[in-house]
Amino acid sequence: MTNRPVQPSQSTPACPYCPTPTKVGVHSKAQKRFKCHQCGKTFTETHITPLFGLKTHHELVVIVLTLLMFGCPIPAIVAAFKLDGRTIADCVDKSGEHAQRVQEYLVCQGELNLGQVQADELWCRSQRGVLWLATAVSVASRLLIWGKLAAGPTEDMIDDVVDHVHRAARLQSPILWATDGFSTWKASILHYFRAKVENGRR
Ligand SMILES: [Zn+2]
Repeated sequence: MTNRPVQPSQSTPACPYCPTPTKVGVHSKAQKRFKCHQCGKTFTETHITPLFGLKTHHELVVIVLTLLMFGCPIPAIVAAFKLDGRTIADCVDKSGEHAQRVQEYLVCQGELNLGQVQADELWCRSQRGVLWLATAVSVASRLLIWGKLAAGPTEDMIDDVVDHVHRAARLQSPILWATDGFSTWKASILHYFRAKVENGRR
């Protein structure tokens, strides 16, 4: 028996569990659930997307997220679309987690010539108190490489950002760091970007 290549269909999504394209059929029309004929697993169209498990209409979720991205206040969205504030918070949480996974998968793969990287930390006041945000941006492409939120300007927050820049940067490519002079940046950069030179001595 020969294995015929399976052509991806426009109406059915690809199986998220199989590495190569497989034959996928409809498992439940009402639940929009599909079944892979290769591994036998079922999955929904929104599997591992921010829309997974949300009962709100998907097009509305996309509109709400776009408005939030451009700075629209949450009370305005609640009033305009008659949505619950908790639903919006849920959308934001899921999208944030998804964006983090995408950033890890696409950016932090050691393939970027970053050139100059600008790192900074800033604080903002929220209802739960003061929060700190550390970010690193590649200047030439304006790519935000990583950001980390914390309750204070801690070493862990800075380490996490530098670690992700290290994972994104192509090995041995020249990189220039610019920071605001906060000493934790220097210590962390020297820790993650050091190159071990073996000379036979301790
Ligand atoms: Zn499968």
